[in-house]
Amino acid sequence: MHYLVLMTGSCGNCYIFTTGRDTIVIDDGVTYTKIRTQMEAHEIDISTVRALFLTHLHPDHSKGVGVLQRKLSIPVYISSLSREKNESILIRQKIEMDGLRTYEYGERISVPGFDVVPFPTSHDSDGSSGYAFSADGHDYFLMTDTGLIPDEAWDYAKKADVEFIEANYDCAMLDNGSYPEFLKERIRGRFGHLSNRDAIDFAKATARHGDSIYFVHLSANNNTPAIVRELVQKEIPSGIFCKVCERGELFEGFIDADNFF
Ligand SMILES: [Zn+2]
Ligand SMILES: [Zn+2]
Repeated sequence: MHYLVLMTGSCGNCYIFTTGRDTIVIDDGVTYTKIRTQMEAHEIDISTVRALFLTHLHPDHSKGVGVLQRKLSIPVYISSLSREKNESILIRQKIEMDGLRTYEYGERISVPGFDVVPFPTSHDSDGSSGYAFSADGHDYFLMTDTGLIPDEAWDYAKKADVEFIEANYDCAMLDNGSYPEFLKERIRGRFGHLSNRDAIDFAKATARHGDSIYFVHLSANNNTPAIVRELVQKEIPSGIFCKVCERGELFEGFIDADNFF
């Protein structure tokens, strides 16, 4: 497996996973040009993209979907609840309904090269999802934009070799920052985002020796990569590879049966 955190944070989110033969994209909050040029630069053939999975429909995760659908003619997966509750957003974002595939949480979705199981997240976008998936004998886990950690997430993450976990805000920075109170409440509320504390505790409880963890979706205003890195150094045992993904930057990883990281 070869993967790219193409971009993460409120500026845009997009993750690409490829076995070489088959590729899936999770979230598309970036331009088509960025996807195409970065796939080319990392020697991933864009014609191998089989499907796009969306965590939710906030623009930083979905603003590129309509164009990608038209360019690649690929199915786009969202939860049935998300489709039902967000009709106006789907229309506004010019997402083609014909290409939409809906799922129920816990359902196993097979696309070429990948088995994907969506689970519910807790966010102010109806029908939001996280994903557990497997390909080429390894398991992966991705959970962002959630105020609470859903019960299902623990077992999926424990099984995963590679985890992508939201570490959105530092509690003290949020408390003492300039955001209006209602916005602070939204972020730390049950339909908001995960704090660094939540993310680190979850990582400690779910990662095994040899796993890789990527901390993603850091807030530009209420967090810094240095704070997350310090927590990682203090609290995550050695033997677990950790990467703090800075907002807007690209990160690349590889896994194969014999050669982790
Ligand atoms: Zn969101
Ligand atoms: Zn987001």
